[in-house]
Order: sequence, then C-alpha cells, then structure tokens
Amino acid sequence: MNLASEVEQYLPRQILELVAGISQEADRLGQRTYLVGGVVRDLLLGYPNFDLDLVIEGDALRLAQQIAKTRVIKLVTHPRFGTAKLSCGDFTLDMATARRETYAKPGALPTVMPGILNDDLFRRDFSINAMAISLAPNNYGELIDPYHGKSDLEHRSIRVLHPKSFSDDATRILRAIRYEQRLGFKLETQTAQLLERDVPMLRTISADRIRHELELILREKYPEHVIKRLDELGVLQEINPSLDYNGWIEGKFDKARKLSRSRQLPSLYLCLLAYRLSEEENEQLIHRLNLPKKLACILHHTLRLKSLLPLLDRPAMKHSEIYCLLHEYNPLAIQANAIASGSPLARSNLELFLTKLRYMKTSLDGEKLKGLGISPGPELGKILQTLHKAKLDGEVKTKAEEEKLALLLKPREEEAEGTQTKITKQNIFGESSRPAR
Ligand code: ATP
Ligand code: MG
Repeated sequence: MNLASEVEQYLPRQILELVAGISQEADRLGQRTYLVGGVVRDLLLGYPNFDLDLVIEGDALRLAQQIAKTRVIKLVTHPRFGTAKLSCGDFTLDMATARRETYAKPGALPTVMPGILNDDLFRRDFSINAMAISLAPNNYGELIDPYHGKSDLEHRSIRVLHPKSFSDDATRILRAIRYEQRLGFKLETQTAQLLERDVPMLRTISADRIRHELELILREKYPEHVIKRLDELGVLQEINPSLDYNGWIEGKFDKARKLSRSRQLPSLYLCLLAYRLSEEENEQLIHRLNLPKKLACILHHTLRLKSLLPLLDRPAMKHSEIYCLLHEYNPLAIQANAIASGSPLARSNLELFLTKLRYMKTSLDGEKLKGLGISPGPELGKILQTLHKAKLDGEVKTKAEEEKLALLLKPREEEAEGTQTKITKQNIFGESSRPAR
C-alpha cells in the first residue's frame, strides 16, 4: 500500500521539506529513512500528530549532524543511544538508528544492538505503533506493516507483538490502557489476558519510568477514563494500594479542566488523585513516583490544607483572615482543595483567595513608607502588614487612606516601645498559620 499522497497532505510543508532533505541526504550516504510509530498510526486514523519519529537504517547521528549543518534547526544528540532530536518551530523530529533490543530480565533497560527496520518495529509496544512509511526515493510512501497494525487499527484493537511483551517492560501495561481509552479501542483477547497476568510485573519498573507513564496519562484529554480502567484491572493498586477510582474523580477532573490552565492540569489531577490518601499513604506515593521536590511539596500542601478546611467553613470570614490562612500555600494545592472540598463555604473562601485576595497589594511599599519618615527595620515591616490587612478588609481603599493610616501607625520617638506592642497585636500574619516546610 502506498501512502505518498496521504503523507503529502498530512504533514505541514515545513516538515515535509525537512523530511525530504533528510531522506535525500540519507540516500546519498546509502542509508534508508522511515517514518515510524505514533505518526504512522495517527496518519492512518486521520488525527494530527507532528511529533515525528524517524528510523534510519544506517547512522542516525551522522545524518542528523549533516542536516543541521545546512539548516536553522536545533540539534540535540544522545550518542549513547544513537539518537538525535531536531527542533524547528512547533515541531520536533526524533531520529534513531534502527535497533534490536533484548531484555536480560523483566523491567531491566534493554540491551541494544544495531538492526534493520523489522527489528526496530518488533521491539515496539503494540502492532498499531509498529508500522513504518518508507521515505526512500525508490519506494517513497510505502507502508511497511509486518505485524498487521493496519488491520488492528481497522478492528480497533490493541495487541502486543509477543507474549513476553508486558513482562519485558511493564510500562506497556500503562501504555496499553492509555491508547485503549484515548482511541476508544479494545485490548485484543490474548493481550488482555497477558496484561492481567503481568500486572505484578509493574514492581520491576523504576519510579522514574512509572512517573513518566503516569504523566503521559495525566496529559490525556480525559485521564479519568484511563484511571477508571487502571482501577478495574488492579493496576492502580499495584502502583499504590490506597489509590482507587470509585467515581469521585470523574466529576473532580471535569471541574479541574474547566478551572485550570492546561499546562498545570497534570499536576492538579495528581493532587486530586492523591486527595483521599492519608499523609502516610501520600508519602508512599511520592516515594513510588520519585516525585520532584516541587511536586511533592504541592501534594504535601494539598493534604495539609485539607485538614485546615474546617477553619474555612465559616460564613462572613474577614478577608484578612482568609489571606492569613492561605497565603503560604501553593496555589495549585488551594485549587485542588477548592475543587475537592464538599463544603460550599470553604470552596467559596478558597476561590475568593485564588481569584482576588492573593493579588491585592497596597499602593505603598517600603520605599514609600521611608519617604513618609518611617525608618527601615522591623517596625516598617509590621506597618506594611497592617496596611495590607486593612486593604484586604476594605478599611483603606485609596493611596491617601493608606498614607493616613501609615502616619497614624508611625512610631513617635518617645512612644516607640508602646506602638511596637500595639502593632504586634494587630498583626494577624502570625507564624502559627504557616504550613510547616
Ligand atoms: P503519543 O501520541 O502518545 O505520543 P506515540 O506512539 O508517539 O504516541 P511515544 O511515547 O511518543 O508514543 O513513543 C513513540 C514510539 O516509541 C511508540 O509509537 C512506540 O512504537 C515506541 N515506544 C514507546 N514506548 C515504548 C515501550 N515502552 N515499549 C516499546 N515501544 C515503545
Ligand atoms: Mg509521540
């Protein structure tokens, strides 16, 4: 089957030109170039996908370096793996030397040897991801499909290429469910049996690789569908025994999508996934995924704030009080609580903080207070805090009102001691409300 005209229609001009340049150069060097993996699958399905993977029968690194010499593109090479990444504008193009892989033991990183295209396709996860399109001049556009991926696409079926696939690399369990749910496909019967058999093999997978696959799941359009299936198949519990789906997540993820910017969504989903865990279970999850410090901290904040929610479940709270309770928490942790909390009052207080209070600033700053004759030092800091509190509570609105209050608070030489005590009492931004670090 020849897909030359589909390729020409599908790929943007800019990518086509680059790809044509690569295959001509490869031909000159006596090498062959193929489009492989997700882009071939999505081209046949008619879905956009401009993260291109090229496999080279030859030497991908040398070819990439040759191409980068004559074009304005960014090149990053990984000589150890024989791969190179070219970036240009919005798209990336990964180039890899065709390789053969063997697994010394389950979950180990594979031993890699140079190979031909068919070896490279055989090392892949599923038949629908194991197709290639030739870019060589003499058979440009030809579909190479030794494992019947096109037929599986037509039957909407996810199928592994051999019975040891999931045990060799159990991340494929997570990938299978991700594609099944994204594409609305079914696991082929034997693949489903192998998957269920090999769920315990997830224990052989490193934290970083599990985290990577979970991140890919949380980047899907509807990750809750994937999580539901992972739960049904016992995969979620294999990652952490306390994780479950039970329908709660569905509405919460939907709400998250409506409220949050897409870049932050995966982290927000993770907070919601962990929301019903105890602090101890949360620690286990953080460890199992080897979460980076920042994300671990967001999860800590989420659960700590959850335990503070009763304090926010009150009507007519002073804005400064809400600010005091929340200002040191990560905004994503606050957002997660605003989505997850069952209390409408707590929710509206959290939302008020996120949408308004956290942005409210006084017109006066330290420099301007100095201009009013207030000397630098702890007193000045306290006056600023008092002004901020007054601003939050609507007691001062204009810059002139702030100045008036600042002058009232300004310690007179002979009363410095007394004023200090008074302001300290007014200061509600105490240490006690801070989340312990
Ligand atoms: P997506 O649209 O999710 O990016 P993709 O098919 O492009 O799908 P990638 O994760 O970008 O998926 O991987 C590119 C290709 O590498 C896949 O199509 C698949 O052939 C192969 N691959 C990725 N991970 C594995 C794995 N764990 N085992 C075998 N092959 C894999
Ligand atoms: Mg991809």
